[in-house]
Amino acid sequence: MSAPTCLFCKIVSGSIPATIVARTDDSLAFRDIDPQAPTHVLVIPRRHAHNIGELADTPRELADLVALAARVAEQEGLDRGYRMVTNTGSEGGQVVFHAHLHVLGGRPLAWPPG
Ligand code: AMP
Ligand code: ZN
Repeated sequence: MSAPTCLFCKIVSGSIPATIVARTDDSLAFRDIDPQAPTHVLVIPRRHAHNIGELADTPRELADLVALAARVAEQEGLDRGYRMVTNTGSEGGQVVFHAHLHVLGGRPLAWPPG
């Protein structure tokens, strides 16, 4: 089910444009509008969920999301490594409240994050 005011639901429905790089029946991968690394792709479930934790109830959907993120990393040639991260809640840095994985790579990534 989609949420009418949700930005990423609008990307799923096509009412807001995005540069889509990969898709499955359940998930969509598109380039972040404000990339923080040479590769910065967001991988989202097509069905609205507020955060990744909510997908624990639908493990098939969660597995599809992680598999697509790994496929994107391979497709982008990130064989030297990459980061797959998810921000949860405002203090965790989440700004868009539709579950998403960030796939970041193409440069050395510092740890710990800020
Ligand atoms: P987060 O802070 O984890 O909620 O991440 C939200 C991400 O969505 C940020 O990296 C934004 O740059 C990105 N973003 C916001 N609007 C768009 C958009 N229209 N298309 C692609 N990425 C977007
Ligand atoms: Zn949504």
